[in-house]
Amino acid sequence: MSTTSAIDWAARAAELRIDGRIVIDGQRRDAASGETFAKNSPIDGRALAPVARGREADIDAAVKSARAAFDDGRWSAKAPAVRKKILQRFAEKILAAKDELALLETLDMGKPIQYSLAVDVPSTARTIAWYAEAVDKIYDEIAPTGPNALALITREAMGVVGVIVPWNYPMIMAAWKLGPALATGNSVVLKPSEKSPLTALRLAEIAVEAGVPPGVFNVVPGYGQEAGEALALHMDVDALGFTGSTRTGRRMLEYAGRSNLKRIYNELGGKSAFVVFPDFADIERAARTVAGSMFFNQGESCNAPSRVLVHESVADHFVEIVAAEAPQYMPADPLDTSTVMGALVDDTQLRTVMGYIEAGRSEGATCVAGGRQARAASGGYYVEPTVFDRVDNGMKIAREEIFGPVLSVIRFKTEAEAIALANNSSFGLQASVWSDNVNRAHRVARALRAGTVHVNQYDEDDITVPFGGYKQSGNGRDKSLHAFDKYTELKTTWLRIDAA
Ligand code: NAD
Repeated sequence: MSTTSAIDWAARAAELRIDGRIVIDGQRRDAASGETFAKNSPIDGRALAPVARGREADIDAAVKSARAAFDDGRWSAKAPAVRKKILQRFAEKILAAKDELALLETLDMGKPIQYSLAVDVPSTARTIAWYAEAVDKIYDEIAPTGPNALALITREAMGVVGVIVPWNYPMIMAAWKLGPALATGNSVVLKPSEKSPLTALRLAEIAVEAGVPPGVFNVVPGYGQEAGEALALHMDVDALGFTGSTRTGRRMLEYAGRSNLKRIYNELGGKSAFVVFPDFADIERAARTVAGSMFFNQGESCNAPSRVLVHESVADHFVEIVAAEAPQYMPADPLDTSTVMGALVDDTQLRTVMGYIEAGRSEGATCVAGGRQARAASGGYYVEPTVFDRVDNGMKIAREEIFGPVLSVIRFKTEAEAIALANNSSFGLQASVWSDNVNRAHRVARALRAGTVHVNQYDEDDITVPFGGYKQSGNGRDKSLHAFDKYTELKTTWLRIDAA
């Protein structure tokens, strides 16, 4: 067997056969309108495949298929242990298709092949397997009522769950919803991003091969304002798990209000603060960590530590190290296994990121690394790892989510000022505090308004912990057992017990 680094990924890409058709009822089909849209690779602009342009009619067909599957119990009425076995097989088959899925992900959205292989595929499989393994170990409740009654509190599948995901981690974001939704017996209609639809379509086929009954997991690619809107407005979708921008998350709530008040779970943007105090001895480690976390996935991570707050007494040293680290993340060909930063997802994203870099300069921040487009001759969309120093928290680059490899460094004088700056954001997804003083570390971690707070590290992550945000970073939580809450309804059943 060849190792992944020995594989010629460019040759594999040239041979790859890509099917962009919809998956409904376990079958491939064209859009009802017959329309497609062109999917090009951000790596070099090459055409990958025509993809079905799903619209309302296709979403309706997918929801009807999901509803029929739910109502006849082919999945929803199976014992949890049976669903577990099938989903475990699904996870195994994802791993078996590792090379193909990783290549599709990289070609589709531009991340380095080494990370698609080492992170995206295994994490997707682990998520599905973890929820499968959990679902037959959860018990319902009996309420502590009086002697003449029995009150059972049970969790039941919602029914049809819509899932809409972004393009930055297409498979992982889908798996965070699919795992708990499918394990608890729901049927799912997934609308992947039009910028990265390819792996989702393959996942739906692999699920059927693993034994997930046709109709239980349907995938309709298409544009947000067409397929996405139709799914979010559909009267027969019971819950909608959404990951994407805060702007679209706001729309989701409107769609629910305009239709059937479906449950909306929003996992939205971030502008996570990374707070470095002078009593943290290993400033180099903190600086290297922020560079690694910021530039991973081209900076296209909702939880990227894009706002560094550093005490003025150590700021010069810290910035010097980050600026020296940045060039090590210079973008290169994503199909080369040594590449650590790949292409931005498309031309629009490239222009957005370059616009923010321009705004940083014109608002008076100091660009100490990067700041330019890279590899333009490739035909793809690349930006240098960029660091701005002397940023003010009121500047556009400190307030808005850039979703690209651009780091802002803000200097502070006191602990109280650092906390105030960190919390002065409309987002609240993640944060981190770096201090060797245990009291300060706890005090600041407690004061930070974010769904996850890291202390003296930023890399820890696991399916066992919840993920989600405060404020305009969303509601509900993906991952961990808490995610089951989103895809189940609580039911109380009262039984009367007569005296003998
Ligand atoms: P986006 O909001 O533009 O699109 C997300 C999805 O919504 C896509 O599938 C898109 O087609 C669909 N969509 C767009 N407009 C729609 C509409 N009017 N109606 C229905 N559907 C619509 O976001 P994006 O650019 O794809 O992704 C980047 C965003 O995702 C960033 O803000 C990032 O922070 C966020 N994100 C959050 C998390 C998290 O867990 N909190 C994780 C990853 C990404």
